[in-house]
Amino acid sequence: MRILDMYEENKTLLSFEVFPPKKTSPIESVYGVLEELTELKPAYISVTYGAGGTAADNTCAIASKIKHDYGVEAIAHITCVNSSRRQVSDTLEQFRANDIDNVLALRGDIVPDLPPQTDFHYASELTEFIREKGGFHIAGACYPEVHPEAKNDIDDILNLKKKVDAGAEFLISQLFFDNQYFYDFQQKCRFGGINVPIEAGIMPVINTKQINRMATLCGATLPAKFLRVMARFENNPKALRDAGIAYAVDQCVDLIANGVSGIHLYTMNNPYVARKITEAIGSLL
Ligand code: FAD
Repeated sequence: MRILDMYEENKTLLSFEVFPPKKTSPIESVYGVLEELTELKPAYISVTYGAGGTAADNTCAIASKIKHDYGVEAIAHITCVNSSRRQVSDTLEQFRANDIDNVLALRGDIVPDLPPQTDFHYASELTEFIREKGGFHIAGACYPEVHPEAKNDIDDILNLKKKVDAGAEFLISQLFFDNQYFYDFQQKCRFGGINVPIEAGIMPVINTKQINRMATLCGATLPAKFLRVMARFENNPKALRDAGIAYAVDQCVDLIANGVSGIHLYTMNNPYVARKITEAIGSLL
């Protein structure tokens, strides 16, 4: 089903992200996670592609399992920066053969060790390529605190507009811990003529390892309120987990009250956390 058709006025979609297991682990190791996540009946589940050393080949198999075995709509991520047109076409054919018609078209992070490819430079080019092939509904990524490589926020919005014009039907945001960044970004998008639904990416931080890793990796600002909570409970894993969940719930409540189109939960393959948050906000959606 086309995700765009799921949005309704005064309703907020709740969706999840999962990642395939590391290359050294069997694909079956994620099935238990999928079973528990799909029981929560999210609008859809997205499956990352080759991120953080996970096997790209498994993206299609996992998306297909989510859709066909558990009856939940799935989005398969696809990146292009290290791929030729032929490789991208092959991946799309694999998606098509598995009846996966929702894709999140990404540039991907530049990996210095891999041989450079020149077929695609930006996600907008991939989006156009997929649209021209036909038969897919396409989503794109966006960055409330500006993509780290962008010259400035205006340039980033203008580039995002190219991606939307190329065929991105809705956007999923990078994670953030201060909702004000998201609201300001949303407004800039509207001023820039970007009128597609924008889902807010929320990452519940439940252990100390995650905190700095996330901030360094994606450049998200860690607000004083967030840092106080983390500092207070850093030596008490259970309290830190509960505080991280409560912080994410607080963000979600505010976003829903402000009419956000969707909340995309970066579950980190942790069904316990996804369940707690779904239970807390389920009646508000
Ligand atoms: P783009 O939209 O191409 O933007 C990248 C940079 O180029 C930006 O600075 C932009 O301003 C600039 N730019 C864009 N177009 C132009 C242009 N025409 N001229 C000049 N500059 C331009 N990575 C993975 O490897 N696998 C995943 O599964 C994955 N999933 C993700 C899911 C979400 C929701 C998000 C937010 C990110 C995800 N990423 C994933 C990370 C993503 O690949 C990186 O953030 C990457 O650096 C940018 O990808 P993009 O698609 O946003 O790129």
